[in-house]
Amino acid sequence: METLSTDLLIIGAGPAGCSVARTIKDKEIILIDKNKFPRDKPCSGLLVEESKEILYSLRLPKNVFSTPSNLDLEYVDIDNNIDIIQKKALGNTDRIKLDHWLLKLIGKNTNLMENTIVTKLEKSSDGIKVFIIKDGKEKCILTKKVVGADGATSTVRRFLGILPPLRYYTAQNFIETNKKIETCKFIYWNALTDWYAWLLPKENNVIEIGGAFQMKTNRDEVLKLLMEKMKINGKIIKKTNWLLTKPSIKDIHIGNNINIFLIGEAAGFISPSTGEGISFGLRSGTIFGESFNTGKPDIEYKNRIKPLIEEVYQKISKAEVLADPKQRISFLKSISKTEK
Ligand SMILES: Cc1cc2nc3c(=O)[nH]c(=O)nc-3n(C[C@H](O)[C@H](O)[C@H](O)COP(=O)(O)OP(=O)(O)OC[C@H]3O[C@@H](n4cnc5c(N)ncnc54)[C@H](O)[C@@H]3O)c2cc1C
Repeated sequence: METLSTDLLIIGAGPAGCSVARTIKDKEIILIDKNKFPRDKPCSGLLVEESKEILYSLRLPKNVFSTPSNLDLEYVDIDNNIDIIQKKALGNTDRIKLDHWLLKLIGKNTNLMENTIVTKLEKSSDGIKVFIIKDGKEKCILTKKVVGADGATSTVRRFLGILPPLRYYTAQNFIETNKKIETCKFIYWNALTDWYAWLLPKENNVIEIGGAFQMKTNRDEVLKLLMEKMKINGKIIKKTNWLLTKPSIKDIHIGNNINIFLIGEAAGFISPSTGEGISFGLRSGTIFGESFNTGKPDIEYKNRIKPLIEEVYQKISKAEVLADPKQRISFLKSISKTEK
């Protein structure tokens, strides 16, 4: 079997993995992804302030945005009949374009291997053996260090024997319609889900409607109910399904901190209240890259990542409030007095 070798192998070229590759400039590294880019990661592509700050500093081009490019956030609480708009200016991007652009920012020192799936990892006396399949052929990469940036279904996390966090099944329909939607709506309706659903405008008279549901939910049934409730009609032009992580305190893991590290959603870095994971991917990836550059990633990553872990912890309590219709009322009232 052909064997390649490297000092650092990053698995996953989403916002987290690309941020590591972009930050490390002086070492030859390998970045692997099972997809060929541009790839479609099911995601609404909304950017919170933290994401915008990082991406604008990298000169985020205008063409990655959908229309409208900024959206206020509207909380639609069906259980309590409350509708509140919060001025937010969430960036409304096309996630396919965003990730493709992020990938183009990686340096020439990175050997990018697309269409390459990692099947298993094995400890060896010289480092870690990572088995991959590329073009139908099995190969092995011998690496000193591995970064698991492989998202909600992380193979690296599984190899470490760490259970995945609680995951929800997300289903989204993209609808061609003349109906004008001008905000990003977060919909709370406990009859459908104890997390939330969403509705937002995308390009060319297309809106996206979807939600995070318990596993084994019948996607078409719940989305039909949601569309009826939100009075959305039109032609379904695309359907997507994926998993969304909702971490609790025990789910945040940064790896074994010797030679295997976890970042992004694979580490549990995602907001358990909104499912916002782009900023966490960008930030944890950059923090790992900077820690690696010091030559002591084992010590530095553990220290530098602490504030991000704390941020996820804080959002866990917010998620609990939002999941409970009674507690949600006071949260929403604290945002604004505008009530139906
Ligand atoms: C429906 C939905 C809507 C969302 N909306 C938003 C939003 O609006 N805003 C927001 O901030 N967040 C949103 N999120 C969350 C966000 O998409 C993720 O948290 C974010 O993409 C995590 O980034 P990452 O780099 O850690 O992982 P990912 O972006 O998931 O990247 C992981 C990469 O690893 C690759 N990979 C996985 N396994 C292997 C393997 N075995 N071998 C090789 N490659 C592999 C995948 O192909 C993928 O490219 C949403 C998520 C979902 C499901």
